[in-house]
Amino acid sequence: MAETLCLRVCSHFRQDVETALAGLGEEGVRVQAYPAVCTLRPGRCNLADARETPPPEGSDGALVLLGCDAETRAAPPDPRVHLVKLDHCIHLLAGSDVLEPEIQGGAYLVTAGWLKQWREHLRGMGFDRETAGEFFRECTRELLLLDTGSDAHALGELEALAGYLGLPCRSRYVGLDYLRLFLSGAIAKWRNLAAEAKTQEVLAQANRKVADYAMAFDLLVRLSHITDEEATIAAIQELFAMLFGCTNLVYAQVEEGRVKEIFAAEERPRDRLDLQQAIDALHEGYLIMPSGNGFFLRIDYKDAVLGLILVREIPFPAYRDQYLNLGLAISNLCGLAISNARTFVKLQETEQNLRRERDINSRLFQQVRALADTDPLTELLNRRRFSELAEVEFDRAKRYSNPIAVIMIDIDHFKQVNDTYGHGVGDQVLKAIAERLRAVRVSDLLARYGGEELVALCPETNAQEAERLAERLRLALLERDIETTEGPIPITASLGVATRERGVENLGALVDRADQALYAAKSAGRNCVRVYGRDAAPSEP
Ligand code: GH3
Ligand code: MG
Ligand code: MG
Repeated sequence: MAETLCLRVCSHFRQDVETALAGLGEEGVRVQAYPAVCTLRPGRCNLADARETPPPEGSDGALVLLGCDAETRAAPPDPRVHLVKLDHCIHLLAGSDVLEPEIQGGAYLVTAGWLKQWREHLRGMGFDRETAGEFFRECTRELLLLDTGSDAHALGELEALAGYLGLPCRSRYVGLDYLRLFLSGAIAKWRNLAAEAKTQEVLAQANRKVADYAMAFDLLVRLSHITDEEATIAAIQELFAMLFGCTNLVYAQVEEGRVKEIFAAEERPRDRLDLQQAIDALHEGYLIMPSGNGFFLRIDYKDAVLGLILVREIPFPAYRDQYLNLGLAISNLCGLAISNARTFVKLQETEQNLRRERDINSRLFQQVRALADTDPLTELLNRRRFSELAEVEFDRAKRYSNPIAVIMIDIDHFKQVNDTYGHGVGDQVLKAIAERLRAVRVSDLLARYGGEELVALCPETNAQEAERLAERLRLALLERDIETTEGPIPITASLGVATRERGVENLGALVDRADQALYAAKSAGRNCVRVYGRDAAPSEP
């Protein structure tokens, strides 16, 4: 569409300009007249209004044709207002080739517009009839009307003025061709300027857009490093606030199609309802608000809606569509960031669950292991585990030539307990014996070796010490009857002691010697301690 122009001219030339324009076929040009300064009393009016008033509603620019006020150099404050300065207003009607010879010949040039108000003009100059006649007759030879043919009364007014001043007069037909030429040139020049300004504006807008995108890109890069949804939402809000220049932005967190939480500097009572309705109504990625001055923008990833942004009042509504396009361009990336944050949280939860399970498993494993190493009835080490641990102790003792002892313990006549009270009571007794022996704490390694036979390994212990320990064990069993559901049962045990000496190369051999000493204790009548090598003869020479 062609730009529309407001042409401001001195009121003296309004009629001529309008007639000339009609013949030009220029569309979109309207004429505004400013008061003729030359006719008004000095000080009552100046040209400031013509220069400083912005173009009227509906006009893209204003062009002020100025034949006076040549001294004012200041540019109009509104960049859409342009000035076209002339040496004199009569230059609108004819060129110097016509005007100069007439002026040289002593003619005083007048126009139809000026003649309409010649009385006011002379008054404004401070003349009465006499002084005016004297002045004009002195400095001019004749009055000459530049006749454009557009005012039928002009000639009559010329003659009236000539009679008033006592001067001869003449009319010279100049027509409107010169004015038309002048106007079409000025208008064409203005159109060029307007087009250039528009190009500049498009360029500036493009530059702004590039800057916006660069800024958005920076923030988007930051978005991709955040691993928490709330922090991501805060960054998205910052991003939109920066791009759109609005501070009252609303972000709705959406889960399974429902608004979950609202993030806004200022939440309004209807927001939740509006946002939910917008989610249900959204078919495209956005929805323009009924007011036209804002929009909803969906944040989604793949097919899931993750959030909704409400841009309430755009500061520059004229750029709404540009804002919307920018918003749409980055909303996908925002969706990706939110989706990443949610996945990250899920991963963290899964990892925590795995860690918890791993802890439980490891505890279970330890329990199972303890069970595998323990005799279930007495809760002492079982024979297998005893052998494993005792091997280690034995090897260490051997390596450092430290003493080490084994004590074998066998309950006397245990079969009788079972036979008298039953197997269950026999179990109670075995359990109680284990507890009592453990309480004596003769050794870290106390184990059930089999049936009603127990074993203790005593590192750093020589034969004498081991015998004393064995004796303490024996007395511990003897000192009190064992309490059972069938009443107290007296118990004794026989103990065999062996220590590592020369010729004892492995644990098996040491246990074997303790066993032989135990056998000696049984043979000696039970309820006693026997030491291998002293009380029990070596089985081998
Ligand atoms: P002594 O050692 O004094 O020669 O006589 P004893 O009766 O203790 O000897 P023997 O080795 O013949 O009998 C051991 C008994 O211990 C036989 C078995 O029924 C019993 N016994 C072994 N293990 C268990 C057990 O776990 N529970 C019960 N109740 N009895 C057990
Ligand atoms: Mg026994
Ligand atoms: Mg036995």
